[in-house]
Amino acid sequence: MRIPIVAGNWKMNTTVTEAERLVMEMLEKLNRIEGAEVVLCPPFVSLVAVGMMLEGSSIKLGAQNVYFVTAGAYTGEISPLMLSELCEFVIVGHSERRWHFGDTDEVVNKKVKAALANNLKPILCVGERLEEKEAGKTEEVIHRQVTAALDGIEHVVASDSSEYRLSRDAEIAASLVIAYEPVWAIGTGKAASGEQAAATIEFIRDVAAKTIDKNAAQSLRILYGGSVTAANIAEFVAHPQIDGALVGGASLKAVEFMSIIQQTIEIKGSTK
Ligand code: PEP
Repeated sequence: MRIPIVAGNWKMNTTVTEAERLVMEMLEKLNRIEGAEVVLCPPFVSLVAVGMMLEGSSIKLGAQNVYFVTAGAYTGEISPLMLSELCEFVIVGHSERRWHFGDTDEVVNKKVKAALANNLKPILCVGERLEEKEAGKTEEVIHRQVTAALDGIEHVVASDSSEYRLSRDAEIAASLVIAYEPVWAIGTGKAASGEQAAATIEFIRDVAAKTIDKNAAQSLRILYGGSVTAANIAEFVAHPQIDGALVGGASLKAVEFMSIIQQTIEIKGSTK
């Protein structure tokens, strides 16, 4: 049984004060959530403040990006070792990083491996651009992105360090989350349909099963992201293939984000 995840990507929004106010509003309603993992990904500068506020709650913390080197002369970058003291998750390969900041498949792969090696759980984003979708290249693009991002990850996950000595593949599946985020759906208000998202997510699981074994791939959580709102979340999480959502704009509105979480828990709970 895969535990659903709802993650909020705040992108480059909120000052520290605004972040604290938003978390306060959310905590009033969400102190103890059962039935889903909820992850907040505020900007780097708010990680410490938000992390302190989340202490004692079941809400998890994530960063929005990471560099792939542990320490050194990389002015302005944030290392996976630094993040490992602050949060559990990190978004890697978001399309805004790929297209505005030049994160190639190779860089994304290095970041996934660096995150895993530092006990961070990567939320790996993959997705095709509009012109790729229109050219019928969705599966080709997704296959390339997933295969490249997961290349060699087995070498950084040490099964004997795990408390329960899970198999290496099970450990990868437990530590990794993939988000299918078609670029044309991000921030546009034009979400994919539930059917489209479910079909592509099934394809992603098949591709992942070529890197890790089939059983482990079945327990890997794969989310949909792209213009998710309280009005359309049900359409996605009703599909058994879709294990939750990565939410951008709507995660900055406490009431709407709560509703997305609650609907996910109700729908996933009733389809168990
Ligand atoms: C995102 O930033 O990952 C995202 C899905 O954004 P939005 O929900 O605003 O489309």
